[in-house]
Amino acid sequence: LHVTSDLAPDLAVAPTLDQSRYLTQVMRLKAGDDLLVFNGRHGEWRASVAEVLKKGVILRAEEQVRAQTHGPDLELIVAVVKKARIETIVEKATELGASRVRLALTHRTNADRLRLDRLDAIAEEAAEQTGRLDVPLVDDPVKLDALLDGWDASRRLMFCDETGGAPAVSALTAAGEGKWAILIGPEGGFSPEEGERLRALPFTTAVSLGPRILRADTAAIAALTLWQAAIGD
Ligand code: SAM
Repeated sequence: LHVTSDLAPDLAVAPTLDQSRYLTQVMRLKAGDDLLVFNGRHGEWRASVAEVLKKGVILRAEEQVRAQTHGPDLELIVAVVKKARIETIVEKATELGASRVRLALTHRTNADRLRLDRLDAIAEEAAEQTGRLDVPLVDDPVKLDALLDGWDASRRLMFCDETGGAPAVSALTAAGEGKWAILIGPEGGFSPEEGERLRALPFTTAVSLGPRILRADTAAIAALTLWQAAIGD
């Protein structure tokens, strides 16, 4: 279970109301039962159900069972596409180790109304399912131009360019390890001005994901997988 409170021996841990309902009504946990909790900072802990109250449960942290680990410093930047696809992208990016998912507004974005709390819940669930001990941050949508204006040039950018680029694995292997971000465009692709700006940036590696045009969610999964194959851990 992902909790936000600190974890230390004998510390009381108060899950949210929804989580309490899930623990008592779905998992049918009772006082004394054990479960595993993590908060992204103190590793994974065995906790016990200390009290079942009318309004929620109180857990008690018992002992750390796994030390905190952090995956690669790998951000996924994806132009906002249809809600269902964004939800798939957040789930798969979590499974594939992205540390952060940044939503970009590009010239051709047709943004569905996004619910960030729903995307956070998807990232949390995927982190629990995949066994990672940190939950990727999902940022509010920002304009791509503003993202690039404020770019930390020590982070390389894998620009997935459907109009053509270097074969991904050799380009990534040549560029090497370090802080990375992967950029995926919207259903309508990048505008010519965006493509031109991106290709001219010194920290960008323009890559092809093959000869076929992939949907944004497919492209995100393929790019994350190829990054993992070439550089990942
Ligand atoms: N404008 C494209 C077209 O011709 O229909 C569609 C863009 S595609 C749906 C969305 C994004 O996925 C692209 O902007 C790109 O970032 C990525 N993408 C899709 N296929 C790709 C490929 N073969 N190589 C590199 N990137 C690709």
